[in-house]
Parts: sequence; C-alpha cells; structure tokens
Amino acid sequence: MTQKLNWIEEELTNLKETGFYNRIRTISSPQGAWLEVDGKRVLNFCSNNYLGLANHPDLTAAASASIAKYGVGPAAVRTIAGTMDLHLLLEQRLAAFKGVDAAITFQSGFCANLATIPALVGKEDAIFSDELNHASIIDGCRLSGSPIIRYAHANAADLERLITENQGKFRRGLIITDGVFSMDGDIAPLDAIQQVAEKYDLMLMVDDAHGEGVLGRGGRGIVDHFNLHGKVDVEVGTLSKAFGVMGGVAAGNANLVEWLRQRSRPFLFSSAATPADVTACLAAVDVLERSTELVDRLWDNTRYFKDHMRALGFDTGNSVTPITPIMLGEVPLAQQFSRDLFDQGVFAMALGFPTVPRGKARIRVMISAAHTKDDLDAGLTAFQKVGKQLGVLGG
Ligand SMILES: *Cc1c(COP(=O)(O)O)cnc(C)c1O
Repeated sequence: MTQKLNWIEEELTNLKETGFYNRIRTISSPQGAWLEVDGKRVLNFCSNNYLGLANHPDLTAAASASIAKYGVGPAAVRTIAGTMDLHLLLEQRLAAFKGVDAAITFQSGFCANLATIPALVGKEDAIFSDELNHASIIDGCRLSGSPIIRYAHANAADLERLITENQGKFRRGLIITDGVFSMDGDIAPLDAIQQVAEKYDLMLMVDDAHGEGVLGRGGRGIVDHFNLHGKVDVEVGTLSKAFGVMGGVAAGNANLVEWLRQRSRPFLFSSAATPADVTACLAAVDVLERSTELVDRLWDNTRYFKDHMRALGFDTGNSVTPITPIMLGEVPLAQQFSRDLFDQGVFAMALGFPTVPRGKARIRVMISAAHTKDDLDAGLTAFQKVGKQLGVLGG
C-alpha cells in the first residue's frame, strides 16, 4: 500500500490539534448586510463589500445583459482572442476614474501583483517592501527573483536608511507598500514614502486593494487621499472589494502599463476576465462616478460603529478606515468571542497568530455602506452582551 500521501493527513491532524485548521463557513445567499451562513441568518461583519456593490441592482442587471450579448466565457487569453471592447473600455474608465494615464486589468488583485512586480524588477534589482505587505505582494516579489529588503511597517525613515545602506548594490529599485493594511486598518504614510522614492529616484508601487472605493474623493483611492497624482508610478488594485465584482488592475504611467501588456505573465498566459465580470465592473465605475453617496455612507457608518464601540469600552486599535479590529489579546478568547457572536446572529471573524502577531488576537469587523443604523445597533448590542459574558467589558 502506498504511503506517499500519508504526510498530508498528519499535517491536517496537526493543524486541527494546534488550532490552526481553517473551518470554512458556507454562504447560501447573496452578499449584503445579512447573510445566510451555515443555514442561519446572520449580520455580516466579514465581507469586503464596502459599498454594497456585490449585489447592487445596476451591476447585476449589467452583468445579465452582458451575458445575453457576449456569452459567459472569454475563451482566450487577452493577447490571442480574449480582448473584447469591454476590457479596453473598463481600462479606460478605470484610468479616468483614478486620474492616471492608463490601466490594465487582470483576473484578480492577486494576479495583478504577480503580473506587475516581476515585470518591473529582476535579480539585479532590489525591492523595498513594507514588512506587513499582503501575501500576493510577497509572492509577486518572490517570483521576480529580485532581492527583497523589508522595512519596518509604515516607517519611511527605516525605508530611507535601508536604501542608503544598499546604494550602488542594485540596478533598479522598487518600493512597494499596501495602501491600507487589512489586519489593522491603518494607512501607509504614502506622502513620506513618495518623498523618499523621489529623493533616490526609485519606482513606487502601492497596492490599494482596501483603499479603492473607500479613500480619497468619491473613493478614488490612496493616491487621491494624499493628493499624490502623477507621483506614484503604479497603483495596483482589486475589483473584488469595494467594486463588488472580481478582477485586478494596475494603473499609472502609460509606458509602464504598455510594458505590462507585453510582459506580464497572468495577462499573457491566463484567460481574460469574463464579459459579465467586466460589465459589472463598468457599472461599478458608473455608480462611483455618479455620486459619492455610498462612500459617504460607508464613512458615516464607520464613525458611528467605532465611536459606539469605544464608548462601550472596546479597544479598536490603530484603525483609521472601515476595517475595525476589536483587540482581545489571546487566540482562544477571540475564537470564543466570534463563536458567541455567531450564536447571537453576528458573523465576525477572529484573527490570531500567525495572521497577526502573538498576543494581538482580535475580532475584525468590516463595515459596509450596506449596513443600516439598525444593523449596526444590532451588532453593537451583540458585542456588548458577549463582551460582558466573557469579561472583556466590566459590569
Ligand atoms: C485582497 C487583496 C488582494 C487580492 O485581491 P483579489 O482581487 O481578491 O485577488 C491583493 N492585495 C491586497 C492588499 C489585498 O488586500
């Protein structure tokens, strides 16, 4: 009898015994403020559906019409027969929305990082990367074969120190940071980082996955938030969070985007995004350009929820965005808190080591424009009840 796969069962058992096994819940409803999760209707504090676009009538109608006209599959990679007029239109609309020269879309935000970074640097170069950057940035950096120099989180002075220490040792340099960090909800000091990039003439890339549709005027993202238009070489992003659909994007300098069309591997070797997805993304841009109502509501909800959580006595960490961590300390407490919330009809994820540092386990609440004040009040009531039950809150 073959034994060659036995190690997997041992590893899985080990994950279960050490509490690192991921039990994945199943959703059987559309995305929105409320979800049906494992057969139970619960308040949704987990999704990246910041603006409620994932089931917005404009987007679903546009996608349906697109399927009727273009069918469901792209049937080719972009460079062979997969580029439809829809893809080019979306790229133009995204570039205009962001106020940059050009944009190129990919199948996901993860793909956008795997596409962009290896096209810009190689083994003679150097990447300066925030130590808390997203996994897809890390993988993109590794794929490039370039040496990776990690600077202290959100620390432009440490970045500058490392650049000067390594001066003369690399051909091209690329600085990469997340815009919004998804575990803490803090924002990269992109203004200070951009000054360092300019001083040493290094390329600058920001991954604005949690900033698009959230930060800046009408959700135009972190570059707009810091008013750095024209000063960031490439903004990578996703169409799967605030935009509510699926896909990734790299936007910025025209030549750089042209180079990605020639060289980025997910663009060359993986099929194009589907017509329905692309059309839904176009409808998302329409919604964002038409009015700031959803972005305004997102921030209004964010302030309301955070203010009330702090008033109840919860520690919401360093967040300055709709990502709201509720700091609890140890992993078992955070996991118990999440289970008890679920019993109260609230779906909110516990995050612990290794996703976040030891002793910094938390519940992460994702606020959305889809939440009503009543929804948020229901959430606050559940947090207060469980907080008292578990001794996190006094009284
Ligand atoms: C979510 C996320 C991604 C991945 O985006 P997908 O479209 O879901 O693949 C990439 N980078 C960052 C910073 C993210 O938060």
